[in-house]
Amino acid sequence: KLVRDIIKRPPIVAKATISVPEASKILIEKNINHLPIVDENNCIMGIITSWDIAKAMAQSKTTISDIMTKYVVWASPDEPIEMVAKKMSANNISGLPIVDNNKKVLGVISAEDISKLIGHYI
Ligand code: SAM
Repeated sequence: KLVRDIIKRPPIVAKATISVPEASKILIEKNINHLPIVDENNCIMGIITSWDIAKAMAQSKTTISDIMTKYVVWASPDEPIEMVAKKMSANNISGLPIVDNNKKVLGVISAEDISKLIGHYI
């Protein structure tokens, strides 16, 4: 199976101009843990997870660009799912934005999505 077979659309993304409380609200209300931060063209600039929100609290940081991870590990829609799982384990992360050739965000794949997929087969 390829990434494109399990990708969910439309992607939930946010701009770097949102506040930290707004980002935490999106994570809770949308029941997600990976929020890609995008520019005006929807291209990936960073990623926020609940871990980064905790960091904002611990270090009294107030802006998204201060707490987001800027070096984002991503995958393309044409990659096999196994490659996504490998990237997650190699980088100690639990979700990857899926981007097109222009780095536009198409969706997110989480470890939860992969475990559901495996659970379906066993
Ligand atoms: N292992 C846990 C997990 O998977 O969420 C927590 C540790 S992980 C190192 C937490 C950090 O990873 C956060 O700062 C988050 O921004 C970052 N992160 C999550 N997904 C990422 C991705 N696809 N690319 C780069 N950094 C990512």
